[in-house]
Amino acid sequence: MISVTEAKEIIKSNIGRLPSIIKPIDEAVGFILDQDIFSPINVPSFVQSSVDGYAFAFESIKHFSVLEISELIQAGASKQSVISKNNAVRIFTGAPLPEGADTVLMQEKATIENGALVVSGLEIEKGLNARPIGADIQKGALALQKGTLLTPASIGFLASIGISEVAVIKKPSIQIILTGDELQLIGKELNFGQIYESNSHTLKAALHQVGIYDLETICVEDDLNTIAKAVATALEKFDLILMTGGVSVGDYDFVLEAAKANSIDQLFHKIKQKPGKPLFIGSKDDKVICGLPGNPASVLSCFYNYVLLVLDQLSGTKLVLPQVKAIVSNDYKKPIGLTHFLKGKFEMIEELNNVNPHCQVTILDGQESFKMNSFALANCFVELPEDVTIVKAGDEVVIMLFPR
Ligand code: AMP
Ligand code: MG
Repeated sequence: MISVTEAKEIIKSNIGRLPSIIKPIDEAVGFILDQDIFSPINVPSFVQSSVDGYAFAFESIKHFSVLEISELIQAGASKQSVISKNNAVRIFTGAPLPEGADTVLMQEKATIENGALVVSGLEIEKGLNARPIGADIQKGALALQKGTLLTPASIGFLASIGISEVAVIKKPSIQIILTGDELQLIGKELNFGQIYESNSHTLKAALHQVGIYDLETICVEDDLNTIAKAVATALEKFDLILMTGGVSVGDYDFVLEAAKANSIDQLFHKIKQKPGKPLFIGSKDDKVICGLPGNPASVLSCFYNYVLLVLDQLSGTKLVLPQVKAIVSNDYKKPIGLTHFLKGKFEMIEELNNVNPHCQVTILDGQESFKMNSFALANCFVELPEDVTIVKAGDEVVIMLFPR
């Protein structure tokens, strides 16, 4: 059996990138840019007023005490006008300065007498409130670098330079395959011995949260032939297969055999961890298959620890959970030998006068892998390494923050 660290290293060194695709910018948030973007224009492309006020040539205030207001220029003015030395123009935010003007006095600081702008005694600098051409970005300059995560801000920036679509690294299409004859769909009545199928809902929510929507789910019976066929079909159509259940050593656990029947190379099976010990990950050509255990808490634990890493490898994202240090507020004992990912609840503690603010975490009750109750309350894992057997209140531990 391999360690958590070894499993993560194997994923990193065996799973490669998906190809580039073109996306309209409105669908590109959360994707990784797969090209350098150079600005095709200057932003702004004309000298622009940053306030509502009066524009004039700075020089003219040395020679005149009042400036006649020659015209009014609003944002969107389609022609650049020209200003003469003894004039000012009434101007509004975003409007182009007339040729000859270089400075704008904001309306709140302006004195108007007999319809003219009083400029005697003004103490201002040349260029005040006038945004120069290319002040945000110049034509031809690198706007966004290949590898950038597209955020709302970077997408707004792309729009501001007139870019409507970009090359990004594809996110995987995913088939979720659920195994288990005991599973009943929610909305139907539970018969004796059945449980509600919840793993697909957990996985869909977790995938939606990281911006993955190209998903299909099927439920198959615990039969080798049926599972192997489902895997074969999924391999043809999808980039990533997420299976739940049937990955252990029971008489009805067929996922490993089904993978073998489809010539899938095993990257690993079984990790020294709790929950999620029987996790299987394999690959065939550029397709990846994750055999997650069936227990609901193991599914999400393995998703956060390994599937997010697989997604990062495939799509260049950095979705893996951030780790921070925290002070634990309760005692906890565990046997030696496995890394434990414990459901925890952290909060920021603001001490008196904000001295020593720190993160405090409570290890929740109900850590068994069939229990989702505690997971539903948790906002982080507390990671206790293989060799740790006890933590005491006040000890420092590493926590992994769940996505919000
Ligand atoms: P297995 O790994 O197939 O032995 O399943 C382990 C446990 O997880 C069993 O108690 C299953 O009933 C449960 N389980 C498997 N699949 C699901 C599912 N899709 N939703 C909820 N529980 C499941
Ligand atoms: Mg099963």
